[in-house]
Amino acid sequence: MSNFDEVVDFVVVGSGGGSMCAGLVMKSAAKTVLILEKTPLIGGTTSRSGGVMWMPNNPFMKRDGVEDSPERASTYLDAVLGEQSDAPGASRARRRTYLTEAPRMLEFLGNQGVKLTRIKEWPDYYDERPGGSAAGRAVVAELFDANELGVWKQRLRPSFIALPIPATLEEMLELPGLKQSWRVKLLLVKLVLRGAVAKITGKHWVAGGAALQGRMLQAALRTGIEIRTETPVKELIVEAGAVKGVLTVKNDRPWRVGARLGVLVNAGGFAHNQRMRDQYQPGTSVKWTMAAPGDTGEMIEEMMRQGAAIAQMEERVGSQLTLPPGAEESEAKPTAQGLTASPHVILVDQSGARYMNEGGSYMAYCQGMLARNKAVPAVPSWAVFDSQFMRKYMLAGTMPGSKKPQQWLDSGYLKQADTLEGLAQQLKSDPATLKATVERFNGFVVNNRDEDFHRGERAYDRWLGDPFHKPSETLGKIEEAPFYAVPVYPGDVGTYGGVVTDEHARVLRGDGSVIPGLYATGVSTASVMGRAYPGAGSSVGPSFLWGYVAAKHAAVSQ
Ligand SMILES: Cc1cc2nc3c(=O)[nH]c(=O)nc-3n(C[C@H](O)[C@H](O)[C@H](O)COP(=O)(O)OP(=O)(O)OC[C@H]3O[C@@H](n4cnc5c(N)ncnc54)[C@H](O)[C@@H]3O)c2cc1C
Repeated sequence: MSNFDEVVDFVVVGSGGGSMCAGLVMKSAAKTVLILEKTPLIGGTTSRSGGVMWMPNNPFMKRDGVEDSPERASTYLDAVLGEQSDAPGASRARRRTYLTEAPRMLEFLGNQGVKLTRIKEWPDYYDERPGGSAAGRAVVAELFDANELGVWKQRLRPSFIALPIPATLEEMLELPGLKQSWRVKLLLVKLVLRGAVAKITGKHWVAGGAALQGRMLQAALRTGIEIRTETPVKELIVEAGAVKGVLTVKNDRPWRVGARLGVLVNAGGFAHNQRMRDQYQPGTSVKWTMAAPGDTGEMIEEMMRQGAAIAQMEERVGSQLTLPPGAEESEAKPTAQGLTASPHVILVDQSGARYMNEGGSYMAYCQGMLARNKAVPAVPSWAVFDSQFMRKYMLAGTMPGSKKPQQWLDSGYLKQADTLEGLAQQLKSDPATLKATVERFNGFVVNNRDEDFHRGERAYDRWLGDPFHKPSETLGKIEEAPFYAVPVYPGDVGTYGGVVTDEHARVLRGDGSVIPGLYATGVSTASVMGRAYPGAGSSVGPSFLWGYVAAKHAAVSQ
């Protein structure tokens, strides 16, 4: 190799999910690793996220006596993904590798001192299909004391879980039941005590993605992996068709880093690039994403320049949002996931008609909104609910029963009327349509059966609802005036398509040949999950997994 300012064994572009995992594998093979991150913070959207990884047949399920096997998980993936011949990221070979390597990777991370566990109940998103798990396959990191990172603590990207008391994601999800359950009241006491003890003992607990990436960063630093922030990769360095290194910057001047064993791109997707959205995902907006700011797509385009094939570029991890005044500009946009799956609420298009199961995977939900919008205006759609909902459930981050900001009404974000006809007029939809929609839905509630869209028939729909509402956790009549509506948008937490990779995470050209020296993982790639979201953690899980696989391959291949 010639003309490099510096040479290491393995270069990783971006510090997201799979990056430190790949680095740890390389270090365990006694290789040198350099991770280059363009933003001032480490961890990517992974650190901002819930940090859930969808890991079939994981050792924590075994520990807790929850049944699973590679065959069962494979049956499930087949049932959810199908053939997906137009989604090469989800090839049979890659699905097989995912299922085989997932438990091995978790064992490897455990041996590296990364403390993980499972969430007791987070059903697969199609749990009713063959091989589905009602308990779920969600793996997360244990709470992490960020103070253990010393000076690096300031460089860890925070998670979206920003409660004043230290709670895991699982605990946070239980808190809305506070009014209804003594068990949840006791949980709150436990969390307050945990917070008090932390203050005395000088701990700074972080949860979700920050706990996962905090633990990964700690393991990475312990093994001597070098990580540079504010160091963007501008180009891949290619010699005779093979990737030999990257062009970055150091002290404000170009800096060429050689990589003896290869380059792994884990640089996120293009959620913050409106030009790429207009090209691949028309009708979606950078204003509706919760991805971290570095998600701007330039490394996908750089890999394309080097001949990489792309696929599944239309796909996003949709995440339905409701946007009160000011939320579009803010990083923390209120999710509408639980909102429309709660009792006493439905989602309607702008004509006032219901058009889908308001439970279900957020990816399918947002796909459904965009598809509906082609026939009937449905962006935004309206969450329509009644006073029972207002009393019992949170709305856009506000507490149940609390007085809503006057600005919500003044700006027209929150619509309110004494009758459904009056509400329909405010929504500019047909009063007869909205009234008929609500009456039909209320009839389904009486019979506890949603004949149109089957809401509540799978464990995941019910899990999204109110565990204390009986007989159905998700079906409740809309009958008590005043009636309300808020807009719901097809937001996202990131994109899901990118370069095509094989079962070793090697980047492929359009003719199926390998670009030597180039690996990719995470949402820079066409997802192994194709065009579906089988369960919680279907983004972070694959990012880790293919980082692990890429490094194992690169470590032995040269
Ligand atoms: C609020 C929220 C909750 C979520 N919860 C979950 C969850 O629990 N489970 C799940 O599976 N998914 C979840 N998601 C989605 C998931 O977080 C992302 O899809 C996933 O983390 C992407 O991981 P990644 O490793 O591909 O990229 P990232 O983690 O985003 O890492 C990419 C990194 O590359 C850097 N980068 C980009 N370009 C360059 C360059 N040119 N040079 C150097 N560095 C570069 C970026 O700055 C970034 O740090 C959530 C998302 C959000 C917003």
